[in-house]
Amino acid sequence: MSSHPLFGLYKRLPVWMQSQACWIYGYNFSRRQYDKFYFQKLEWLLESERWSASEIEAYQNERLRGLIKEAYNDVLYYHEIMYRLKLRPSDIKSVNDLQKLPVLKKEDLRGNSNKLVSRNADKKRLLFRHTSGTTGKSLHFYVNRETDTLQWAIWWRHRNRFGMTNDSWHVNFRAHLLVPAEQEKIPLWRWVTPLRQVVINVQHITQPKIRYLIDFLNENCFEFYTAYPSIIHNLAFLAARNGLALKNRPRVIFMGCENTLDFQRSCIEEFTGAQITDQYGFSEACGNASECEHGLYHEDFELGTIESVESEALSDGRVKGKIVCTGFTCHEFPFIRYEVGDIGVLENPDVTCKCGRQSKLIVGIEGRQDDYVITPEGRRIMRFDYIFKDAQNCMESQIVQKKLGQILVYIVQRSNYSQKDENFIREEIKKWISPSLKVKFVYVHEIEREPNGKFRAVKSLLKNKAKGGASSGCACEN
Ligand SMILES: [Zn+2]
Repeated sequence: MSSHPLFGLYKRLPVWMQSQACWIYGYNFSRRQYDKFYFQKLEWLLESERWSASEIEAYQNERLRGLIKEAYNDVLYYHEIMYRLKLRPSDIKSVNDLQKLPVLKKEDLRGNSNKLVSRNADKKRLLFRHTSGTTGKSLHFYVNRETDTLQWAIWWRHRNRFGMTNDSWHVNFRAHLLVPAEQEKIPLWRWVTPLRQVVINVQHITQPKIRYLIDFLNENCFEFYTAYPSIIHNLAFLAARNGLALKNRPRVIFMGCENTLDFQRSCIEEFTGAQITDQYGFSEACGNASECEHGLYHEDFELGTIESVESEALSDGRVKGKIVCTGFTCHEFPFIRYEVGDIGVLENPDVTCKCGRQSKLIVGIEGRQDDYVITPEGRRIMRFDYIFKDAQNCMESQIVQKKLGQILVYIVQRSNYSQKDENFIREEIKKWISPSLKVKFVYVHEIEREPNGKFRAVKSLLKNKAKGGASSGCACEN
């Protein structure tokens, strides 16, 4: 909304008129997005998630063959690639054959967006999407209506696993502004009634305003929250510091967009008492994975297939590697073996989930593939959250590497933070990460978010390192 051309006008309106505008927005959105086609898809998805492994395999292979045939015949980019590799559509019969094709990187997408559009596509009927990556270079592409609807239905199927429907009242804690940042007094929220939703912006989760927000949450009954982990953690932390309790508790919190770090999870759980669940999705809409009731991510196989490349075998039969996805539904702008930009761990194929669903299991997403620290010993470290697990006086932290041999540790202190905490963190890094890595502490009031509103726990600013844009766009902004 904050990027909407009319936002400048909207934010100058009195609150009651902003509320009217939100109602109209919600009404139009609901009519457009939750149409007959959407409910048919959702009903189908609730059935297909119970398919057997062989039914899933047959479905994926059939959808893939259709996609490859059209990509070869009608999409110049793929035609040229397959011609060069002397491949015919009949060479790609199953998901296992996908490895015959190269990976589509973000740079490839940037340089070939016209060649990736099918000659049969009517651009007017496609939805234009773009992502604002962390490098400042945005990506432009299209998705068709079917893909968009299926993606929404998949997000709501995830919510349905936890008993929520389109009629469940919820709060959306988000980064994109709907409540103007200048607003100092209540209401610090906006009702989007046709979507059964209230929006609260991260910009208002501050010490002077926290009491108003918690009072509001306690005066109303919401069944679930959707949020970035870093945003809801901020709310939980500030409320707890001010001795404010959440009396009207949501049953579930649906996370997305960022990894939920351990210290965030425990703080959020303690404050809300809610079940926390997550899904993995992105604007390119060529893959998605959603957690089930048992906390494992299942590939949403109806939308696309997820592989890992440049993988490393882990001892328990799992593999860790770059996530690449092939979307089945958008033939007008196909994403075939698209490198999303994240590192994930795929479960050992022999493992089955207690929930009974047979789709591919993903243990989790480690982080963005370019965000790791290189130690003087040459190790690549993506996660530091276990270092901060026992650093109780540290409210938020971020690790930034600008040059080899050194890291900057940005810290937002809690009131009891002292030199002792700094020494503790320094020692933990020495012990677990590297004994010779130089560590410099930087104390800040807040950790800056990316232009797309995301929090990055580990950030690499090393030069001469290939960078992709961030994956973005997910259910928690909606
Ligand atoms: Zn499961």
